[in-house]
Amino acid sequence: MYITQGLHRHLQQRPQATAIRYQGRDVSFAQLGERVARLAGALKQLGVASGERVAMLSLNSQRYIEYYLAVPWADAVLNPVNIRWSAAEIVYSLDDSETSVLIVDDTFLALGQKVAAEAKTLRTLVYAGDGEAPAGMLSYERLIAENAPVEDARRGGDALLGIFYTGGTTGFPKGVMLSHNNLGFSALAIINGGNCSAEERYLHAMPMFHMADYSAMVALLVSGGTHVVLPAFVSSAVLRTIAAENVSEILLAPTMIQMLLDARAADPALCDLDLGCLRKLDYGASPITPALLERARAVFASAGFGQGYGMTELGPVATFLSAEFHTEEHQRSGRMYSAGRPYSCVEIRIVDAEDREVPRGSVGEIVVKGPNVMLGYWNKPEATAEALHGGWMHTGDGGYMDEDGFVHVCDRLKDMIVSGGENVYSAEVEAAIASHPAVAQGAVIGIPSAKWGESVHAVLVLKPGASVTEEEVVAHCRERIAGYKLPRSVEFRDSLPLSSVGKVLKAELRAPFWAGHQRGVA
Ligand code: ATP
Ligand code: MG
Repeated sequence: MYITQGLHRHLQQRPQATAIRYQGRDVSFAQLGERVARLAGALKQLGVASGERVAMLSLNSQRYIEYYLAVPWADAVLNPVNIRWSAAEIVYSLDDSETSVLIVDDTFLALGQKVAAEAKTLRTLVYAGDGEAPAGMLSYERLIAENAPVEDARRGGDALLGIFYTGGTTGFPKGVMLSHNNLGFSALAIINGGNCSAEERYLHAMPMFHMADYSAMVALLVSGGTHVVLPAFVSSAVLRTIAAENVSEILLAPTMIQMLLDARAADPALCDLDLGCLRKLDYGASPITPALLERARAVFASAGFGQGYGMTELGPVATFLSAEFHTEEHQRSGRMYSAGRPYSCVEIRIVDAEDREVPRGSVGEIVVKGPNVMLGYWNKPEATAEALHGGWMHTGDGGYMDEDGFVHVCDRLKDMIVSGGENVYSAEVEAAIASHPAVAQGAVIGIPSAKWGESVHAVLVLKPGASVTEEEVVAHCRERIAGYKLPRSVEFRDSLPLSSVGKVLKAELRAPFWAGHQRGVA
């Protein structure tokens, strides 16, 4: 399998069908194919050799999709850059991956120029904006206009497709090496799971550099639907685009769902939008609280909900909970709050610290084997050996499997709180807190405690105008979870530190509490 295969099929069979809808214009597969072949030609002309890394630092755009296709077409290697990174982090990743070409859009122009001046292996800076290319930069559009199309390298299989850095939620991001087959498999698994058809209109609301959106993009390229592209996640724009562009499918992280619901609640004009075109709403990337899922199902009533669990290292698919399990019956049984079952061809086991499988229903580490598992971490043989030991990808996530093979994700092992010898899953406490009507968002972390080792600490953001006391929050939780899981302390803040897809950066929240202390888990 090579990643551009889907494009070739649609070029042969339905060249005039709409591949991309961007800024009010339709781009056909024929137009996309032509631009991709020319951009690949330009990369060759620039001397980009087989396996050389080409990076992209950009908001979502038509060009981002072209980049994702042209780089493998030219037999080079992708390196999509996290748009939340600082200059120092970008320079680190460009140096780490020894990237030679960086493509930047208007939004990141200044940042791109800054990092280009520092990155050691970078030799070409390409301006993928709408104006004139600044001095010292090549114009993306001129590269396409002035270079002849080249043949697709069609090198796939286990060849390196790209270096995809992890979310950096728990520490410094690691470069994950994924092959054509890894992504090809994940695309087929997504399609097999009931997602994607040629009629689909998928809205890229997540940042395109992120593996979750990229895998959806590859799946859609195989099935031949239309990519509706929004530059960035702005709640009102997402809602308006769904209605105006007849969007049928969207993928969102839980925080994004919450932002959409809050924006809608605050603006009557957004409530008037007809969102009935939405047939699928997939969510994942971090735990969702039952309270939020309930709200979302009521508002996006036409959509079948699906939850994906996975990680960059898994290209990123592991399990899927399809729409048929988002019903009252499965809500009552608790199955609706599981992450579903492994995708076909993926095997999952729950193991203890010695890699022995634990009994069904017992919590252990989720480990995964399948054709989606990464080649390894770039430049990190030790981390690779540790993550893949015994031939299984060790996710670092704690969870259990029920009798029918449904996987329940409890918490990241690093976020689990060990208090008085008991394990407390931060996600479970957060779910209890989030069901309080005054709470907009809550994060639960372990902080040092002389008596308990760690104690449960809650950091809360309240809804605008709402008020609640620490005692009320604890009393609310006491009705829902066991005594040892209750927050021992509560703190109110205006906002929480979030990653690019809205994951709470708990390591950042924990850091000041642990200064001078040694935490059991990193
Ligand atoms: P880093 O590895 O750099 O700390 P990250 O783990 O956030 O960052 P990703 O690969 O984007 O980077 O995220 C994968 C992680 O996200 C999983 O290991 C898991 O903890 C969490 N996750 C993904 N999907 C779900 C889900 N459906 N429910 C709960 N957690 C999820
Ligand atoms: Mg991770």
